[in-house]
This record gives sequence, structure tokens and C-alpha cells, in this order.
Amino acid sequence: MNMRGEFKNIRRLVVKVGTSTLIHANGQLNLERMERLVRELADLHNRDIEVVLVSSGAVGTGANRMNMKKIPKTLPEKQALAAIGQGRLLHMYEKFFADYGKTVAQVLLTREDLDERIRYLNATNTLLAILNMQVIPIINENDTVVVEEIKIGDNDTLSTMVAGIINADLLIILSDVDGFYDSNPRTNKNARLQSEVYEITEAMEANAVARGTTFASGGMLTKLKSARICMAAGIPMVIANSAEKNVIRRIVAGEELGTVFVPREEKMPSRKKWLAFGSAEHGQIQVDHGAELALLNRGKSLLASGVTAVADDFERGTVIGVINAAGREIARGLTNYSSIEIRQIAGHKSGDIEKILGTKDYDEVIHRDNLWVNSL
Ligand code: GLU
Repeated sequence: MNMRGEFKNIRRLVVKVGTSTLIHANGQLNLERMERLVRELADLHNRDIEVVLVSSGAVGTGANRMNMKKIPKTLPEKQALAAIGQGRLLHMYEKFFADYGKTVAQVLLTREDLDERIRYLNATNTLLAILNMQVIPIINENDTVVVEEIKIGDNDTLSTMVAGIINADLLIILSDVDGFYDSNPRTNKNARLQSEVYEITEAMEANAVARGTTFASGGMLTKLKSARICMAAGIPMVIANSAEKNVIRRIVAGEELGTVFVPREEKMPSRKKWLAFGSAEHGQIQVDHGAELALLNRGKSLLASGVTAVADDFERGTVIGVINAAGREIARGLTNYSSIEIRQIAGHKSGDIEKILGTKDYDEVIHRDNLWVNSL
């Protein structure tokens, strides 16, 4: 399949820009980049492509406004800077987009907004309503109000969630690197840029640099994690350098720029998409090799007999992660039983559940319809 050739048919695009794109090394806004980005997006919009912008830069812009050379360490200070910077950032976007006759909408999200299914659906409907009005949503995390537990943390992950929520045809992550290399280009001059990636291995993640620049928070690791989810969900993702001229238009035209992470063919059903993109885990269970194969290769439900350990306390109906014997997360799903119940029935056949618990409401610990399998 010629993946890049398909991009000219996209109808809905999510573009993520990082702080390193929007802010110069000295902390000042990079107005030229911002203006070029807006111009490209406005032009795609003129071609009837719905565009969503996920933009970082609130904290960095706030720091700049306050003449700080570095981002302070404490959370309240960062949150204060986000409050100072977000308004200013939006003001600039609004100004630039207005030059091309476009209206923008500010959407600030936290993990909590996507965590519960009902709020996830609400966020989805709002975003779709904005797109329907021919308005361009500009999304960031609501940094000012998040505390650790409800923080998404980085906008690579946020942009993946957004792409999943609105069923985007393509996610482009613009950064200060040309794409994904087979080794770190900052330390190895023989590192080769990968044009297409079909699989993300644990070795690739282990080699990825987790850190961004002074003002940015992402890095290659969060991008690979995002790519892994996009690929499993059927959404192509491209990482490219924001410094390239007309970078978005050229990618959409099918030009070989950056790295494309090629998804599997199918798109996911909506409940699974929420499990993959939105939900947060309330606990974890570990499974044996037999259960791992049943989940990964045979599309089966998870039965109590394959469970070997339970971590944390959780209720029935909450989202939990499933990890294999090596500790890698292989699936996430809605549990039919609480942690207390699973500790009792772990390792037992489904037929024994009633004897052990006194009742048996379900044969499976997680039904396959409520299970998202991360098999890459
Ligand atoms: N939400 C943060 C900001 O606007 C940035 C997070 C990120 O860059 O990944 O400053």
C-alpha cells in the first residue's frame, strides 16, 4: 500500500506543534514559524480539509512574558505561567488566523475529561460541533488546573487522543527533528532517517531520547508511544521538522518528508478507541503466557485461569491494564470483577467462580468486546 499517496484524500487532519517550534531558544515567540503554520492550515481549510491544531507553548510563552530564562521547577509556578501564556498564545493565533478569514476555538482538556466514557463522548461531540461550524479548534492541556493524577503530561499524547476522538485521517507531529532515526542523530552522525515505520519494537523505545529542549517537554519516546497507539487504531502518523518550508502541504501532497508510521488497515470501533485513547487505568493484572497468546493472537476474552497477579485496588467496571509476565502492557479493558474478587479467582477455571465467590455474574474477567489489545 502506498501510504503517502493516500494523504491527498484526507478530510480531517490533526497537527501538533511543540514548544521548540513556537519559541526561539532565547524564549521569544517565533512569529515567522507561527505565521507560516497558520497560513498552511488556513489554506488546507480552504481546500475543505477540517483541521485541528494541538499547540504547546503556554508555559513557554508565560515564561517569556515574565522575562524568565528557564521554566521554574514547582508545579504552581508552571501552572501560573500556563495561565499567563495560554491567553497570549491564543491571542496570537487568533490574530494570524483572522488574517486569512478563519475563526478559532480554544479547547483546554485534562485527562479527567477523557477518562470517563460519558465525558469522553461529550468532549467528542463538542469538538465535532466546532468542526461543523467550520471553526479551527486549538487544543492544549488545561495546565493551570491539572494536578498529577489528572495530567496527560505532554502534547504528543494529547494529540493522539484528539486524533482518536475525532477519527482523524492523519496526525502530523511537527518537531525540531526531521523524523525518526535508527539511532540518535544528535550523537551518531551515521544515524539514518526512517521514511516508513511498520512496527515499533521495545528496542526502539529503549533507544529513544525521552527529553526535549529547555522549554519543551516531549521527546522521541512520547512520540513513539503515540505512534504505537495511532498504528493500532488505524490512524497514520507523521513526524516531521517544522523548519521545512510548507511542511504540512508537502506531506499532504504525498511528498517523502519525515517519518510515517503506517497503521494497520482497520479503524477501531468507538468503545475500543476510548479504551486506547481516553481511559486511565485504575489498576493492573498480570497474566501467564497462555493467556497472553489468547489475547494477542486469538482475539479471546481474558479468563481468570490466566491471571497470575493483581496490583492496586479497583472496583468492577473500571479500566485496568493487562501486563504480560515480562511486565509489558499488552491490553487494557473494563473489568467485570473487582481486585478483591480477582485475587480470589486468579488461576481458577470459570466454572469454579461461583463456588469461590458465591455468585458468578460473568465467565470472563474482561470480555473481548471491552478489551483493547496492544499487540504491536
Ligand atoms: N501543555 C504544555 C504547554 O502548553 C506543553 C506540553 C508539551 O509540550 O508536550 O506549555
